[in-house]
Amino acid sequence: MLQEVLGSIFKKPATNLYPAQKLEMPDKFRGKLKFYPERCIGCKMCMRDCPTGAITINKLGEGKFEAVIDLSKCIYCAQCVDSCPKKALEATKEVELAQLDKNKLRVVYSSKG
Ligand code: SF4
Ligand code: SF4
Repeated sequence: MLQEVLGSIFKKPATNLYPAQKLEMPDKFRGKLKFYPERCIGCKMCMRDCPTGAITINKLGEGKFEAVIDLSKCIYCAQCVDSCPKKALEATKEVELAQLDKNKLRVVYSSKG
């Protein structure tokens, strides 16, 4: 026991200094989604396959679509990314998504920005 205690004094801490020290997420990490409206064809395969109903695709005009994602429902499975035939959705490494206001968890992505 004493040996363990003394040994740990000279070891580097196993914990990270988050949030003071930012974490680098591994490749293929499934964080916040990104939507590329210019690639979307409005097929709604993403909506059909989403297990939680977190994503909605709305038609804005001829060939123009927006994605509305409810981050409070999203489980970051990236099924929508896999289902999209046009690569209009991408899972990013962004993980800092906490909000005090629940309304801010509803994110609208459109060609307007
Ligand atoms: S990552 Fe999963 S839960 Fe989130 S919108 Fe896509 S399919 Fe739905
Ligand atoms: S699956 Fe892709 S192309 Fe189809 S509506 Fe969803 S984001 Fe758009």
